[in-house]
Amino acid sequence: MTSRADELAANLDAVRRRIDAACAEAGRASDEVRLVVVTKFFPASDVRLLAALGVTDVGENRHQEAEAKSAECADLGLRWHFIGGLQSNKAGAVASYADVVESVDRAKLVGPLSRGAHGRGHEVDVLLQVSLDPPGADHRAGADPAGLDELAAAVEEAGMLRLRGLMAVAPLGEAPEAAFDRLADVHASFVSDHPGATVLSAGMSGDLEAAITRGATHVRVGSAVLGPRPAVQ
Ligand SMILES: *Cc1c(COP(=O)(O)O)cnc(C)c1O
Repeated sequence: MTSRADELAANLDAVRRRIDAACAEAGRASDEVRLVVVTKFFPASDVRLLAALGVTDVGENRHQEAEAKSAECADLGLRWHFIGGLQSNKAGAVASYADVVESVDRAKLVGPLSRGAHGRGHEVDVLLQVSLDPPGADHRAGADPAGLDELAAAVEEAGMLRLRGLMAVAPLGEAPEAAFDRLADVHASFVSDHPGATVLSAGMSGDLEAAITRGATHVRVGSAVLGPRPAVQ
């Protein structure tokens, strides 16, 4: 029987090899892409094993779970990425433990995030989540590309928040390559106006190669490392 540590080590190794291969194919250095392991639904004990295997960044999408797990793992020195839908009444609390908030998609979140970062006495990195759905579609999450500059201005004016880049999820029902092509264009134009916003968080277990080929600097990988999540999501 293999232990959980062995299983995670083998999965992590396979994911790192996929990242390396995609970087090689794109003519990029492997250290240009940071792996964020998405640990939602998995226990703090897994986070601990991952840290021992060299993981530096973890992602969570639900506030209560993220708050508890980050407190339980405070000794590990990990960078915590909040990647889930945010309610404005929870945003301040999220900024008290998250090092990076990747899912900022409306101006209403900015004030609470800034106050949360203030209370903590610590700047928080922010990514704007952009919707890749066609205009008029039932948006799952994310700001309209046309609204990014206004949202960026709110983040830049708020204080204690560092605008670092963009995040997106490929929509269902479309090839990720096509969606990430659009994202690359959106990011290129965004960076020309916001030179510090070099981060592009895109790509998950199923589509990380497509994202890396199109310039992702961060991939968010859950099930390929931890195994399938419970179906309750
Ligand atoms: C769950 C989640 C991921 C990871 O998905 P996998 O397919 O398990 O790799 C990435 N990004 C976001 C925003 C998520 O919610």
